[in-house]
Order: sequence, then C-alpha cells, then structure tokens
Amino acid sequence: MEFTKTKKPGIERHRKMEETEKGYKARLWKELCREWRIVTLIELGNKCCKCGFDDVRALQIDHIHGGGTKETSSMSTVAFYKKVIKEKGVNYQLLCANCNWIKRCENNETKGYLSKH
Ligand SMILES: [Zn+2]
Repeated sequence: MEFTKTKKPGIERHRKMEETEKGYKARLWKELCREWRIVTLIELGNKCCKCGFDDVRALQIDHIHGGGTKETSSMSTVAFYKKVIKEKGVNYQLLCANCNWIKRCENNETKGYLSKH
C-alpha cells in the first residue's frame, strides 16, 4: 500500500483521505468477519449436520435451542463467532438453508413469515 500520494494539503484532499481510510477500515473489518465465518464453519464441520450439504454459501449457523437472535444482535460479529466456536455442538450447529427453514417451521419459529405466502 502506498499512501505517499495523499500528502498534498487542502480540505478536499483531506476529506478524501479520511473517506479512503474509513473505507479501508470497513473493508478490513468485512474481511475479518468473512475469515471468522470461514473459521467458524470449519470448526462446526463445514457441512449441514442434518443432510450433509456442504456448499458454504447456503450454510447457516443455527442456535440449537432456537431464539438466539436477541443475544447475538447485542454483540459484535467476531464475538459472536468466538461464542459459536466455544459452544459448538452444545448451543450451535451448522444447518443448510433448507434444513434451517424446515427446523424453524417445525418449531413454529417463523412467526408468520411463511404462513402469509
Ligand atoms: Zn441440510
């Protein structure tokens, strides 16, 4: 990375530099979260624990006992992944999108989501 070009003075230039740095940090954070997701998926077996589906694009971290959204929304993404790895097999498992929705339907966790359609 080369930052020497951005040393010219001027408000406009400074503003652009700030934006770039902000964007850079956001990108790093996104990258970090993406890596944590990969690590977490591998820790959880990297495939659906119900049917064995292993395309990571459709794999979802599932709270075994349901209703984990309230606690997870209050913590950072990385903290969430750390918690998942620590409690894998106890509180968290890996499900593909299909099995996840089937499980939600069976447990009535959809809250009218699907019944409307
Ligand atoms: Zn599945």
